[in-house]
Amino acid sequence: MTAISEPELLASLKTTFGYDHFREGQLEIVETLLGGSDAFVVMPTGAGKSLCYQLPAILSERKTIVVSPLVALIDDQVAALRQNGVAASKIHSQQSYEENANQWRRFAGPGAQLLYMSPERLMQPRMLEALQHQSVGMFVVDEAHCISKWGAAFRPEYEALSQLKTLFPEAQIAAFTATADEATRQDIVRKLSNENCRVFVKGFDRPNLSLAVLPKEKLKERLVSLLEPKRGQSGIVYCLSRKDTDEMAAVLSAAGFSALAYHAGKDGEYRREAQNRFMTEDGLIMVATIAFGMGIDKPDIRFVVHASLPSSMEAFYQEIGRAGRDGEPAETIMFYSLQDFIKRQNMIFDGEGEAEFKQLEYKRLESLLGYCEATTCRRMSILTYFDETSAPCGNCDNCLDPPAVEDYSAKAQAIFSAIEQTGQFFGQAHILDVLKGAQNAKIRQRNHQDLACFGALADDPKPVLQSWMRQLIAIGAVRANLSRYGALEITEIGAQISQGSMAFMAKTPKASKTSSPSSGASGRASKKTSSLEGADEALFQDLKALRLNIAQEKNIPAYAVFHDSALKEFATRKPKTRAQFEEINGVGPKKLDRYFEAFSEAIALYVSAHKNG
Ligand code: ADP
Ligand code: ZN
Repeated sequence: MTAISEPELLASLKTTFGYDHFREGQLEIVETLLGGSDAFVVMPTGAGKSLCYQLPAILSERKTIVVSPLVALIDDQVAALRQNGVAASKIHSQQSYEENANQWRRFAGPGAQLLYMSPERLMQPRMLEALQHQSVGMFVVDEAHCISKWGAAFRPEYEALSQLKTLFPEAQIAAFTATADEATRQDIVRKLSNENCRVFVKGFDRPNLSLAVLPKEKLKERLVSLLEPKRGQSGIVYCLSRKDTDEMAAVLSAAGFSALAYHAGKDGEYRREAQNRFMTEDGLIMVATIAFGMGIDKPDIRFVVHASLPSSMEAFYQEIGRAGRDGEPAETIMFYSLQDFIKRQNMIFDGEGEAEFKQLEYKRLESLLGYCEATTCRRMSILTYFDETSAPCGNCDNCLDPPAVEDYSAKAQAIFSAIEQTGQFFGQAHILDVLKGAQNAKIRQRNHQDLACFGALADDPKPVLQSWMRQLIAIGAVRANLSRYGALEITEIGAQISQGSMAFMAKTPKASKTSSPSSGASGRASKKTSSLEGADEALFQDLKALRLNIAQEKNIPAYAVFHDSALKEFATRKPKTRAQFEEINGVGPKKLDRYFEAFSEAIALYVSAHKNG
C-alpha cells in the first residue's frame, strides 16, 4: 500500500467525517493499519475507536469486514457511515432474508467498502466461502475481549474467529476493546494475529466525566431535584431491580421528565421501541437495569446515575463510560448505602461459580466501596485501580469540595465495643440501635439495654453513625460475615484501632450537604454541562428540534445528522454560507449537501426574527 501523508489523512478526515483533527491515538493507529500491520487497540469507551478502522477501510482499495456482537450497534454505525456517504452494508438476524441478500449484493459489487455482521454469520461455511471470492483486506473485531476465556465477557461464538488468520492469511486483523487486563490482552493477540501485531493501550482516564457519590437517603426526591437543571438532556439512571426501575421511571415521569423504564421483563417489541426512542429523541431518560447499555454508542448522553451500587469497579466504569462519548462534559452520580453493598455481597456469594471466582468478584466489589468512601480525588481512586497514576482531577466532588477529615478513633472504639459486647452476632441496624440507645423489642429480648455501650453514641445523628460504619467497612476495620447473615465482625485492622495503635480518620459530617441535594460536585458540574458558553440557547433548541424532525423522518439516530457540539457551534457562530458551515467541526461535504439548506434556513429565520423583535 502506498503511504498516505498526514496532511492527506487530515483532508480525508474532514471530507469523510467532517472532523478537523484526530483525537489522541487515532492517527497512529490509522497509519499502522494503512501500513499493513495487524493492530490490537485498547481504548476507553468514547475515545473514538471506530474511526481508527473506518478511515483505513475507506482509503483502502480492498474491502473490510467488521465483526460486532450487537445488532443495535451495527445498525447505528452503518446509519452514521451512510450519512457520511460511505458505502457500508450490514447482514444480521433482524433483517429479512431478502434484505440480507440485498445487502450482500451491494457489498459484493464494485465500490463497496465495509460490511458489518455478527461473528456467527461470518463464520458460517457459506459466508466464508463467498468471502474467499471477494478481495477482503481487513477483518475488524469489535469487543475483542469476548474471545478470551480470561475475560468476564467470553462469548463462545467469538472463539471461531481465531480461524480467520489461517483462512485469510492475506488479510489484516484489527481488534478493539475497551477493557482487557494484561492476561486477556495477550490471549486476544495470540488468538487473532499470526505475527506483526502492534498493540496500542490508551489510558483509561475520561477527564470529561465528573464524578460524585452521595449517600442514599430520600433517593427519589433527591434524584428529581438533581435532574431538574438537566431537563432536555439525555441520561441513564441505573437501578438494581425491575421493580425499582418501573417505580423510578414513574416518579420521574410524574415530575414531568420524559423517562422510560427498560429491563429484561419488558417484551422485545417494547425494548426495541424504547431503545429506538432513546437513540433518536433528545432529552430522554432511560431508567434501566444493566439489561440496557451494551451496544449503546449514543455520543451525547449527559449523565449516568447509579441509584444503586453496581456489581464491581469494572462494571461501574463501563456503565459510567457510556456518558459523554462526544468529549463534552458529562456527569456521573452514584447513590449508595451499606444495605446495597451487603445485597451485592450476597449476590456474589449466593451466585454460581467457584469459590476462587467469588473471592475475586468480592475484591472487585470491595474496591468500589473504597471508591465510594474515598476522601481524596475519586478519579485517582479509579485510575489507581486500573494501574494508572494521575494528579487530583478537579472534576470530582472530593476535589471540588474536599471533605474535612478528623480523628474519630473514639467513635470507632464505641462502635467496636457494641459489636463485641453483643457477641459479633448482629448486623448494622441492631448495632446502631444499641449505640443510639433505642427502645425496641429486639433490644429488650436480649437485654441489650444493660450493656455498657447502650446509648454510647445517642447524641450522634443516625446518618452520621451510618457513614462511620461504611467508612469502617471501606477501610477493612469491620467486615460483614455472610455465612452468619451479615453479622458484623472486627478485623485485624479494627483491633489496631481499638487498641489505639492506629487512628480512624473519617469524614466530618456535613449537615448542609445532606439537606441540600444539589450542592457539592454534582451541582457544580451541572452548571458546567448546561452552560452553552456564548451559544444562543433558544437557537440551539430550535436546531435540536429541526434535527429531531430530520432524524425521525429518516429513521436514523439524531446524532447521525449532527452532534450536539456542531449544533452548539451553529448556535454560536450563526453561519450563513456553505463555506462558513464547512468550517465547523463535524461538517463534511456530504452533510453539507444534505443539510445546508435546512439548517441555514433555520438560522437565517432565527436571526431575522430576533433583529426585528
Ligand atoms: P468508542 O468506540 O471508542 O467507544 P466511538 O468510535 O463510538 O468510540 O466514538 C465516540 C464518538 O466520538 C463518536 O460519536 C465519534 O463520532 C466521535 N469522534 C471520533 N473521532 C472523532 C474526532 N477525531 N473528532 C471529533 N469527534 C470524533
Ligand atoms: Zn478529583
